[in-house]
Amino acid sequence: MASEPDLTFSCACGTLTGRITSDGARLGTHAECFCHDCRAAQLYFGQPDPAPGPVEVFQIAPDEVTIDSGAEHLAAMSLSPKGMLRWYAKCCNAPLATTPRTARFPFAGFIALRIADHARLGPIATRGFVPRPNGKQKHENLSPAAIGLLRRVIKSRLSGGWKNTPFFDPESFEPVVTPMVISKEERAALYP
Ligand SMILES: [Zn+2]
Ligand SMILES: [Zn+2]
Repeated sequence: MASEPDLTFSCACGTLTGRITSDGARLGTHAECFCHDCRAAQLYFGQPDPAPGPVEVFQIAPDEVTIDSGAEHLAAMSLSPKGMLRWYAKCCNAPLATTPRTARFPFAGFIALRIADHARLGPIATRGFVPRPNGKQKHENLSPAAIGLLRRVIKSRLSGGWKNTPFFDPESFEPVVTPMVISKEERAALYP
């Protein structure tokens, strides 16, 4: 059986390149996130304002990611001391992926725009934090995301693969670079 090729990605300037394994691609969940943090991160990195639209992500296990070139440009930002890690390529400020602060929970929301073959991501399976007319936010069609997450976490944990990612040291499970936490003032400016 011929397997699908890996999904390649690159930063905006093409210095940092890599791929998501075909297995990772198969188990990924194509999602849209309307949350204020995802928008704030896009603004921080000088990307076009996604609002009122979402940020499109491909949810995968981080151990399915390999960086082939430009790994020295990998950096991480956090909107608050306990916030998610927003990984980006500092050569061109392109956001790449969002992960928890620890390798122990194998989740990454990979920025779909950075993936070359967008058609391979399939249709949007789930939408998070969708704005409602009453001003609140609601998750739509959460079950594919939940099932996908569970399948990926089980696979990563059973194989031990969760320890080997480009983002975390395989022994200390700490981020490979010290995440930069932005100041309260910087943060305030990103939530218009
Ligand atoms: Zn770049
Ligand atoms: Zn979000």
